[in-house]
Amino acid sequence: MKILIVEDEQKTGDYLKQGLVEASFVVDLARDGLDGMHLAQTGDYDLVVLDVMLPRLDGWGVLRAIRAAGKNMPVLFLTARDQVEDRVKGLELGADDYLVKPFAFSELLARVRTLLRRGKVMEPEVLKAADLELDLLRRRVTRAGRRIELTAKEFALMELLLRRRGEVLTRSLIASQIWDMNFDSDTNVIEVAVRRLRAKVDDDFEPKLIVTVRGMGYVLEVPESV
Ligand code: CA
Repeated sequence: MKILIVEDEQKTGDYLKQGLVEASFVVDLARDGLDGMHLAQTGDYDLVVLDVMLPRLDGWGVLRAIRAAGKNMPVLFLTARDQVEDRVKGLELGADDYLVKPFAFSELLARVRTLLRRGKVMEPEVLKAADLELDLLRRRVTRAGRRIELTAKEFALMELLLRRRGEVLTRSLIASQIWDMNFDSDTNVIEVAVRRLRAKVDDDFEPKLIVTVRGMGYVLEVPESV
């Protein structure tokens, strides 16, 4: 298992490297953000330990570059400030976990092992069926390259159908997942919502993706020929 550490503080960097080598990892150490970025983009690392405050390019820039290069290895970032905004920002940019300095090495090792065990489990950011694409990060939907405007509920419904494609979703399940309500309250809501969603994503396109299963519910299916 190969780990990249990006840390400019010499003592901390050396200490982390030594500890991880002793724990039987192969370790590279970059002392600034630019070197770290280049190594992360070109090397085959299983995990990156990334300091936030770095010379030449900060940790956020490194993280952005890693994800932009399509690398999805877990990233554990180190922040000196225990600030909620930092954590939120890191996780939004695609980091997998963080540690607030100062921390015990045993704590870092435990996090590293957990992340490596979990592996590359980042969710796909775009769900697809035929030529329909749902971009979860940007909250954008296109079909055949055409932008489609969905309401928040419609988006959630589309996402549910895509995530569970091939599975018949009953009206009660949809009601509880999307509307947070009981089946008995108003099933008409579901029917209306599905009709609206179809008008947007299916009516002007082929093949039709949302299929009604009479007496049961709805299923998203992509015909074999597509
Ligand atoms: Ca630093």
